[in-house]
Amino acid sequence: MVHTDALVIGAGPVGLFQVFQLGLLGLKAEVVDVLPEAGGQCAALYPDKPIYDVPGVPLCTGRELTQLLLTQARPFMAAEAPGTLPRNLHLGQLVRELRAQPEGGFDVLTDKGLAFHCRAVFVAAGAGAFVPKTLNLPGIDTATNVHYHHDTTAEANGVPAPWAGQHLVIAGGGDEALSAVIDLAHASAAQRPARLTLLHRRDQFQAEAALDTQVRGLIAAGRVELTVGLPNATVVDASQPGKLTALNLLGPDGQTRDLPLDHLLIRHGMSPKLGPLSQWGLTLERKQVAVSAASFESQVRGIYAVGDINTYPGKKRLLLCGFHEATLAAHHAAAELNPDAPQHLLYTTTSPLLHQRLGVSGASSG
Ligand SMILES: Cc1cc2nc3c(=O)[nH]c(=O)nc-3n(C[C@H](O)[C@H](O)[C@H](O)COP(=O)(O)OP(=O)(O)OC[C@H]3O[C@@H](n4cnc5c(N)ncnc54)[C@H](O)[C@@H]3O)c2cc1C
Repeated sequence: MVHTDALVIGAGPVGLFQVFQLGLLGLKAEVVDVLPEAGGQCAALYPDKPIYDVPGVPLCTGRELTQLLLTQARPFMAAEAPGTLPRNLHLGQLVRELRAQPEGGFDVLTDKGLAFHCRAVFVAAGAGAFVPKTLNLPGIDTATNVHYHHDTTAEANGVPAPWAGQHLVIAGGGDEALSAVIDLAHASAAQRPARLTLLHRRDQFQAEAALDTQVRGLIAAGRVELTVGLPNATVVDASQPGKLTALNLLGPDGQTRDLPLDHLLIRHGMSPKLGPLSQWGLTLERKQVAVSAASFESQVRGIYAVGDINTYPGKKRLLLCGFHEATLAAHHAAAELNPDAPQHLLYTTTSPLLHQRLGVSGASSG
């Protein structure tokens, strides 16, 4: 059981900024996300697309904004060693249970068995937990060699990819699939699959022109094979239970045939699922948590909802609005959790206390 002041559900842009704001006010936070990387929609849906309306940042991509938020939150989300995740950032974990405790605070449990006891909860869950879209075929869910993510962090730390030196089939024809093809075709020799096949239902992709051009180039150079067909059934070898040995495909000629494989990476994009959140006793309006527009607290005292997951009169699903909500929610929680502490507003520019929390030496005092 991890004991903490605050638990932030969702490591999207608003969840990351929530950790920063809580840290400034002296509150320790743990953050959990079901995705294997931080950044929410910015990282999962539009990593390379431009954002023009973050105050003070005229232009950045979704991936760059995530990196900026992680850098800003570093005083409160520090990694113990280079290339490792911050100790309080828990990825690949779905928050399943959230229960108020009679003695105060909340117990929170993830699907991987991680348990937290916290004094306040900040639901920064966006449109819900992102889950990868899959192929609707029997045996896909349980197969040990079916993947949805390309874990670049593990690879950067020298952990070999499961498909290194083997035949990897990447399924999909959108940005996610084509980006994975490009990344893996250019991976280091130790990480690269020996054979790389892109499987799509037709010989046209629904991806950005630049990705399309690069992948066409790799196919023309013989570094990537393109197979056109609709997955029809899974093929499993009885001697290797749980392992997919091929996908049976329906080809454009109406014939079926097997595409042998060692590993399958499904890159059909992500879709958000509200999932367990609907069972946490929060008042929902059209799948969003109703909150006070002054504090962003839900109707359950101590549970806040910030970012795209909340609703209140005038709500706009914009990054800027989420950052504002996270700021006011942190201030409200700080006053509730530490009622005896002075609550006057401090500036990061001038406050020695905030400089101390940020780990910087301030030039001026005030
Ligand atoms: C294509 C596109 C372009 C956009 N462009 C702009 C723009 O230019 N300007 C702008 O202001 N906004 C833009 N937006 C909107 C902006 O991305 C969202 O407002 C913002 O991402 C909301 O952040 P969030 O942290 O609230 O939610 P999200 O980014 O959705 O993050 C929520 C996170 O919570 C996780 N989560 C949810 N439930 C659970 C659970 N039970 N357990 C574990 N994890 C969970 C999810 O996996 C997800 O990672 C754009 C959105 C899209 C789709």
